[in-house]
Amino acid sequence: MKSVKSICSKCTECCKRYNITLLPKEAKRIQKKLNLKEEEFVRKYCSLSLQFFPSLKSKNHFVFSKAKISEKIRKKLKEKSASNYFFLLPNISLKKSKKCVFLKNDLCEINSVKPEQCKLFPFISLKKETSFWKKYPFCLLLKQGFKPEKNFKEKSVKHYSNVKNYFESIKEKGFLLEWEEIPEKGFYFFKDENLGEITKKDFLEAIETFK
Ligand code: SF4
Ligand code: SF4
Repeated sequence: MKSVKSICSKCTECCKRYNITLLPKEAKRIQKKLNLKEEEFVRKYCSLSLQFFPSLKSKNHFVFSKAKISEKIRKKLKEKSASNYFFLLPNISLKKSKKCVFLKNDLCEINSVKPEQCKLFPFISLKKETSFWKKYPFCLLLKQGFKPEKNFKEKSVKHYSNVKNYFESIKEKGFLLEWEEIPEKGFYFFKDENLGEITKKDFLEAIETFK
């Protein structure tokens, strides 16, 4: 029997609030399920995403001086943070306007192959003791008293380790070796705040800072 969590669309809040980033193998799984060619899947359902976080100067290879960031993006980032350095996560996400592109009639159209981030939510944490209801007070599962499975921490550790390996691989091999097709446009973010649209050209310029 399926658990409540595996079919959860109780309130659909998480599908409206968050950008769901994709790992290449998750994208392949969805694409296969929908029986689409990669190019078609990316065009219909995916969006580019550049996520910036303020940072201290560090040896971390995802951190860049703001001087290296294009003027268009730098101008908006300056309104949000006085930091001279930014941590950048470039990615491909599921398209979203007010809600995820796969949320139809309050149900997830790709429930059996949805990304890990969606499968784990709201029980994503690297700490054994976490007040999930404080972090996600809007979640109906939590309001109704559902508890995480015993192994939620192990599952979260595994997921974050896959994400970390993915970004390391991007840094080492380049974004375009991980993704054969990329969308034509998307958005850039300061933390989780959407700051505006970007084109493929903006995206490719930003990931040049990785070199
Ligand atoms: S993939 Fe499904 S579960 Fe995940 S945000 Fe989209 S609609 Fe919600
Ligand atoms: S916010 Fe919580 S209850 Fe609502 S759909 Fe997401 S996991 Fe389910």
